[in-house]
Amino acid sequence: MQSFYEATITRPSAYAPLSGRRSANVCIIGGGLAGLSTALGLAERGVADVVVLEAQQVGFGASGRNGGFVFGGYSLDCADLLKTLGPARARELYALTTDAVDLMRTRIARYQIDCDATDAGVILANWFDEPARLDAQRRLMRDSFGVEWEPLTAAQLASQLKTRRYHGGLFERNAFHFHPLKYVLGVADAATRAGVTIHEHSPVVRLQRDGAGFIVHTAQGALDARHVVMAGGGYARNVYARVERAVLPIATYVMATEPLGARLRDAIDTRAAVYDTRFAFDYYRPLPDTRILWGGRISVRDRAPETIARLLRRDLLKVYPQLHDVRVDYAWGGLMSYARHKMPQIGRSADGVWYAIGFGGHGMAPTTVSGELLAAAIAGERPVPDAFARFGLTPAFGALGLAAAQLTYTAMQTRDALAARRRPARPGG
Ligand SMILES: Cc1cc2nc3c(=O)[nH]c(=O)nc-3n(C[C@H](O)[C@H](O)[C@H](O)COP(=O)(O)OP(=O)(O)OC[C@H]3O[C@@H](n4cnc5c(N)ncnc54)[C@H](O)[C@@H]3O)c2cc1C
Repeated sequence: MQSFYEATITRPSAYAPLSGRRSANVCIIGGGLAGLSTALGLAERGVADVVVLEAQQVGFGASGRNGGFVFGGYSLDCADLLKTLGPARARELYALTTDAVDLMRTRIARYQIDCDATDAGVILANWFDEPARLDAQRRLMRDSFGVEWEPLTAAQLASQLKTRRYHGGLFERNAFHFHPLKYVLGVADAATRAGVTIHEHSPVVRLQRDGAGFIVHTAQGALDARHVVMAGGGYARNVYARVERAVLPIATYVMATEPLGARLRDAIDTRAAVYDTRFAFDYYRPLPDTRILWGGRISVRDRAPETIARLLRRDLLKVYPQLHDVRVDYAWGGLMSYARHKMPQIGRSADGVWYAIGFGGHGMAPTTVSGELLAAAIAGERPVPDAFARFGLTPAFGALGLAAAQLTYTAMQTRDALAARRRPARPGG
């Protein structure tokens, strides 16, 4: 089973692999949204001679496989961001992500990226019959981050989402959803038209320091570069240990149902995207062709598409039992990169390598943030904000870290199941 996204695009003719010895001003490792946003940000600032090296194809990683939610914030939730950084710096970093949401809208319009963008907001649905959870979140967003998430009563929510699972919600208006692979290909196209060179099927196998710059070795070539940006996400292996040691590759899964036609509105009667208040939340959205795209679960294991389809279909039916006979047409997984502190790592290491990694499951706006920050820093406009230094390249402890992550996930799932059992969903849900 292929990804819905791959099945619904026509890739432009492939970008040729790097061969022989070349030189560049900036070499970016990774053709995901972190790497390509940096490339486009550099080109927009007039920085010439930028090369992107992608091991597979543009958008092969998480950026071309994700849920397609574009909203503010990071994987680290806002309450923890506030606790860690204090009010001023937390607000500064959060604002970067809402600016990035706007920048993505602007780029879609400016470069005419046809990516099925649906500017209809995102709903956070309360899985628990505890209004205090939503009240606290709403107050936090308003008082500490200056954004209004609008309350939805249980009745208002039930008129849009035909399920008895939820107990009200919050509506984040300044958010949208889209076909992420079409967007990534559009950013790549805009970057190349602005002078960036992309090489696909060019896995970087070694990074060597050379005087003031680096030699970047690929399977068939080598690039002398003044600057190197490491943006290999959860897929980078054995290239630059200092960065790779700081993140864990964690899988998460998505499926797309068959087109539902008029039946879609018997379940989802809104154009907004939806996620819920559990630690291990479902995330889903209606697609323009009336399919439901449904995502959820995280795991340290890669799973077969058939297993993913079975697990996610079960999750969907817990919320929308009326779709009991729905067929799943596509199911796939992808790897996210997580730091222990759950924040992206954006900056420059002591030996001069720039990096943008660790976006976790909340990466569309933050990768765009990293592109802007690194492009501005490399172009000499301004340094990366100090606040990111607080979230450095802390060791993630490899296999041990993965085991700990899986344990935490299972413990949080159990905690949420117990909390929901204390106040069960209304009958029929
Ligand atoms: C299933 C899923 C659902 C998600 N849903 C959402 C969502 O709805 N909203 C949201 O905001 N975020 C979501 N995320 C998270 C988001 O997709 C990621 O945080 C983001 O895409 C990370 O971008 P990236 O560029 O860092 O990594 P990637 O997109 O993974 O790109 C890294 C690229 O580097 C390449 N690479 C690796 N090693 C090398 C090498 N040695 N040489 C050359 N190239 C190399 C890889 O092939 C890959 O193409 C989701 C993630 C997944 C997996």
